[in-house]
Amino acid sequence: MKKKLGIDIDGVLTHEGGDKNNIWQKHLSNFLGYDIQRKKDAFDFTEAYGLSDDIIKKFVEHKSKEIYTKVKPAPDSRQVIQALKKRGYCIYIITARDLKYHKLTKNWLKKHDIPYDNLHHRKNKLPLIQKENIPLFIEDNKKNILQLSQNNITVIIKDRYHNRMIKEENSSLLYRADNWQQIKELIYDFFNDYPENCCSR
Ligand SMILES: [Mg+2]
Repeated sequence: MKKKLGIDIDGVLTHEGGDKNNIWQKHLSNFLGYDIQRKKDAFDFTEAYGLSDDIIKKFVEHKSKEIYTKVKPAPDSRQVIQALKKRGYCIYIITARDLKYHKLTKNWLKKHDIPYDNLHHRKNKLPLIQKENIPLFIEDNKKNILQLSQNNITVIIKDRYHNRMIKEENSSLLYRADNWQQIKELIYDFFNDYPENCCSR
C-alpha cells in the first residue's frame, strides 16, 4: 500500500517564529506603523489582534507575497520529507493559500529542496483528502483539525498558540507535535513503518 501523507504549509512546513513575535505579527506591526500585540490566541487575525476585516484584508493583500517568499522552512522539515520520499511515501501538500500564489509556492518548495508529489490549493481540504484516501494529515488550523478528525482522518497537530484548546488526549485520531522530529516519529508509528537502525528512537 502506498503510504499517503498530507501536509499543510503555513505554520506546519513554514517556520513562522515564536508565539510572541512571529513573522506575520512583525509584518503586521510594520504595516500598521506601530507595535501590535496579540489580544487573543485565535487563528484569524481580526480576532487575534482586534482589528477590522478591512484592515486585515488590506494587510494580507499587501504582505502575503513577501511573507510567503521570505519565510523559512520549519527546522528539520526538509530532511524529514526527503527521508519520507526516499521511503516511498506519496506527499500531498494541501494549502489554503490563494491559487494566485501557486507559482510562488512551487518556487519556494524548490528553493528549499522540499520534495512532494502534489501541490493543491483548497480552502476546504476534506473533500480532496477523502477522494485521495489520505489517512494522515499534518495541520495547525483548529477548524481543519476538528473537521478532519470528525471525518475519521488522523491528524498530527502542529502545536501553535491558536490550537492549544484542542484536547488531543480525548481522541484516538489526534496527536500533537512541537517539531519535525516528533512529527517523523508519529508518521512512522502511524504507518507501522519502522526504519532499520532506529535503535535510538
Ligand atoms: Mg496552516
